[in-house]
Amino acid sequence: MGKIIAVAIPKGGVGKTTTAVNLAASLAVFEQRTLLIDTDPFGACSLSLGFTKEKIVGGLFEVFNFTHSISQVLHRTEIAFLDFIPSNVHTAHMEERYMKLAENRTILKNSLRSVAAHYDYVIIDCPPFLRGLTTNALTCADSVLIPLKSGHFSLDAIDKLVTYVEWIREVANRDLQLEGILQTMYEANTKVTDITERELQLRFRKHMLKTVIPKNTQLVEASFYGKPAVLFNANSKGTLAYLQVAREMIERHKPATTEQPGMLQGQTG
Ligand code: ATP
Ligand code: MG
Repeated sequence: MGKIIAVAIPKGGVGKTTTAVNLAASLAVFEQRTLLIDTDPFGACSLSLGFTKEKIVGGLFEVFNFTHSISQVLHRTEIAFLDFIPSNVHTAHMEERYMKLAENRTILKNSLRSVAAHYDYVIIDCPPFLRGLTTNALTCADSVLIPLKSGHFSLDAIDKLVTYVEWIREVANRDLQLEGILQTMYEANTKVTDITERELQLRFRKHMLKTVIPKNTQLVEASFYGKPAVLFNANSKGTLAYLQVAREMIERHKPATTEQPGMLQGQTG
């Protein structure tokens, strides 16, 4: 069974979608079978991967609405190991219906049951609020990755999310873990970054990812052109940072190596 990671924080514009898209693409570059799911009705993942309305055959909207099966809405991408499920919500009426269907907090978990086993990683991009779709994502996820815009004092948003994660653990998903906090749009040596970082280290040291994502306009340009950064400019600082996050993640989730019988004998003998 693949590892399901929700990218969430109740704050807008902090790099959730950029992280979900580029982390998923980077995991796929390392030949991890990866599925990216866009739960946000805004549909920014679709735009970032170049999926215009005409290229989408269906999405979570249709799955929640019981008109398509999950396998019917899997889209292949330009990266061999990366598949994608869009939200596919295009009108206010559709959004209203989609949000209503998402009030059932196990609908995503139930929908994913038949496909998650085919992937090493399932990355879920969440909207910037904590109910409905984010509740669904956290209910089916193994862990939550928290992107935090550096120098942006959003520690209250982390507090809100952590409290929410505790509630989800109590009512729906006992095993939900914190994958870690990823600093995004990082600008070194500014006073405000230093202050945020000091506070983060004080309160969340063990959850901080080693890699940080620098502020990098190539990441913005890539999404503008409908490409994950690794296909737009493989050597940009943003691309390399997301590849490093993927490497860090793969290393962390690598199954523990079984000890060689010979080594054991050597130790005991
Ligand atoms: P929302 O809550 O609205 O869904 P979000 O948290 O998903 O927002 P993004 O859409 O990923 O945030 O990013 C917000 C804006 O910041 C986008 O224009 C994106 O291109 C830009 N951005 C993201 N990461 C970086 C970065 N590392 N450097 C520069 N710009 C970035
Ligand atoms: Mg987003």
